[in-house]
Amino acid sequence: MKVKPEARMNQTRCMKIAADLIKGDTDSAALFLAENPTSIDKNGTWENVVAKLCYTAKLITDSRATIVQPVFAVFNEAGNVKLPFAAFSSMAIIDCAGYGECGKWCYSKTAWRHPNAWGRQVANSMLLRSEAGRKLVTEAFHKLKSPILRLYVDGDFHSRENLQFWMDLIKTRPEIQVYGYSKSWVEFIALKLAGYEWPANYTLNLSSGSRHDDTLRQIMATLPVTRGEFIAVPVARHHMTSKAYQSKRNDGFAEYSKNVRQSAGKRVFVCAGKCGDCLPDGTHACGSRRFDGVTIAIGVH
Ligand code: SF4
Repeated sequence: MKVKPEARMNQTRCMKIAADLIKGDTDSAALFLAENPTSIDKNGTWENVVAKLCYTAKLITDSRATIVQPVFAVFNEAGNVKLPFAAFSSMAIIDCAGYGECGKWCYSKTAWRHPNAWGRQVANSMLLRSEAGRKLVTEAFHKLKSPILRLYVDGDFHSRENLQFWMDLIKTRPEIQVYGYSKSWVEFIALKLAGYEWPANYTLNLSSGSRHDDTLRQIMATLPVTRGEFIAVPVARHHMTSKAYQSKRNDGFAEYSKNVRQSAGKRVFVCAGKCGDCLPDGTHACGSRRFDGVTIAIGVH
């Protein structure tokens, strides 16, 4: 019988190679490179990115190696059209300690079509699990120039220790406003129960789609870092296909907003689409304590 070769790269293989590398096992990455030996030296190819991740694995596990700089930039300082702030990501799903049904629509998976985007997520997950890697993350954080950081565009706090690492680090740069969304509620509550003092410059949005129940959500709402909820609600598909939801300046945004409010069934602030254009004064709702207690809603897309 003819053996079907493994797919060159797909979401399942992205997950498998990433999960192994994050555990420090390079076998599935090495198999991929053996099957795809060409273009390793061509920037941005799957082979090139997998080879860089193998190299990263070697550096962070070899006690004799000194890592001078990470293979992938730890932070995306420039951001993008939707998010014009510095941003940090790690491997979605694998690092999402509290993910539930959101795993079905996780937008991070679409980023895995791009080798470098996937590679950056995996590399950061690897760095965060080793002392040498966390030192690199710390150094990169201290070099950030952006006054705003979105912590975890993809991924989430994977453990209580990882959460504390970030919270301690955020305290060292009180001039940076850090904000994010998390479903790692067990990890937050464990830190709260240990009497942890939270940084004043971190703002947390509780995102929907987690595996946790309403009791945990209510405890999370009492944390001093919690701004409020950010929920995803179903809307008519044409609002998504027309891209009305992508900016409050787009045609059809008012109609889309009406649909979001109806679907949410309560008073909500409808996500403006572009974070740099969110509020008239140039600030953004998700990172603003003026929006404490306000539920922000977006249509599922
Ligand atoms: S509500 Fe504003 S800050 Fe929050 S995600 Fe939407 S555009 Fe960005």
